[in-house]
Amino acid sequence: MSPVRIDSHQPTCLLYRDLHGKKPETVVEAKGSYVYLDDGRKILDACAGAAVASIGHGDQRVIQAVTAQMTTLSYHHTSRLTNSAAERLGHMLVGDRPGGLSHAIFLSSGSEANESAIKLARQYFVELGESERVHIISRNNSYHGNSIGCVSLTGIPSRRRHFEPILMQHTSRVSPCYPYRYKTEGESDEAYAQRLADELEVEILRVGEKKVAAFFAETVGGAAAGNLTPVPGYFKAIRKVCDKYGVLLVLDEIMCGMGRTGKMHAWEWEGVVPDIETIGKGLNGGYQALSAVLISQRVVDGLKKGSGAFANGQTFQCHPAAAAAGVAVMSIFESDDIVITCAKRGAELRQKLVENLGDHPNVGEIRGRGLFLSIEFVKDRETKATFSKGLPIAAMLDNAIFDRGVSVYSGFGKGTADGVVGDHILFSPPLNISSSEIDELVQAVKEGVDEVFGSQA
Ligand code: PLP
Repeated sequence: MSPVRIDSHQPTCLLYRDLHGKKPETVVEAKGSYVYLDDGRKILDACAGAAVASIGHGDQRVIQAVTAQMTTLSYHHTSRLTNSAAERLGHMLVGDRPGGLSHAIFLSSGSEANESAIKLARQYFVELGESERVHIISRNNSYHGNSIGCVSLTGIPSRRRHFEPILMQHTSRVSPCYPYRYKTEGESDEAYAQRLADELEVEILRVGEKKVAAFFAETVGGAAAGNLTPVPGYFKAIRKVCDKYGVLLVLDEIMCGMGRTGKMHAWEWEGVVPDIETIGKGLNGGYQALSAVLISQRVVDGLKKGSGAFANGQTFQCHPAAAAAGVAVMSIFESDDIVITCAKRGAELRQKLVENLGDHPNVGEIRGRGLFLSIEFVKDRETKATFSKGLPIAAMLDNAIFDRGVSVYSGFGKGTADGVVGDHILFSPPLNISSSEIDELVQAVKEGVDEVFGSQA
């Protein structure tokens, strides 16, 4: 994941990955499931940016809603004022179901949402008089964002490497739920889930029974190792351990939430409700920058017992234009049955990937939920051996598929003690992608895989 060379003529060059020698192309327009480049190429956006463009690009209904909002109120500060778009979006996302998520705060990025969730978990326990709860446990092979708090929780060694000495002190990580690699021969899903829950319990006890504030996890792991999908019962077992020790369960659904797995929240598959949930990306489909922290009544009640307010003001929080985009996108989710469509198209994409690539000697696993799927590639299907470090298979696949007019999200794996393993490519197209676009996607992937492995297998 090296940046584009510093001598590049592009002023923004330091922000981009060098995909095996390729410089970033310039996108000039986007419509539906496609983005258009300045050299005239039309690219199927099979990763919706980074799982962002949930309803596709250029939807006039959202553009009109944002324009109307900008015309009447483009910004105000929120220390004492609110706006109707933010309040309306809040009502669309949280309700007053007992035990459910009851409050929302709106920010701009996923990293800010997770950073706020860290602070919220900490403040909750301070308000309750449990100030010794300073520790947060997360998982290996996780990604939680770019800020120092988020990097402190992230379980990808290359993301942590430069910053290790300045990361948060009171954090640690346990194993992810990654059955393809770590469920042992003959072990049932139930036993595997329990083994991981036991590991969490051991870690809580190691840190100190009353010292852990929260356990952070992506409900379905996203970019780190490619759609790590929990085995049945995993989150129930985890929730039980959290409850036993009073630890808050924080689910990061920045990438996997908002319909992407075929349910509005990925935790709906798991039979648990988090104490805090973070969402972003697909929440308003990229029409504005928007993320949110959804908060349970339990946490709100804790704050009410103490100071009564979350110490977390930000300049652009509850931004009216971003909230208006969120309201418009969530309305389209309802009117266009976006989540149901995602579930159907997700099943279709999975089936076509399995039909076309399921038996390929370098395909280790096709996994994920809804329209949130990955293929993990291996050197050897039997041993699950990864490719050698110097061989950037994911980047080569990314390029080969892009050359065929389809953009995917690639993850450069390789074995490390507590990090990423196999190379993978991830698919997270708009949730309303059509069946013919899925055919186009699968065809490009198949041809890209043939090109790369034709010479490498
Ligand atoms: N959490 C997860 C699971 C993510 O996938 C991401 C971004 O990819 C983030 C947090 C950070 O979000 P952002 O890039 O909007 O700060």
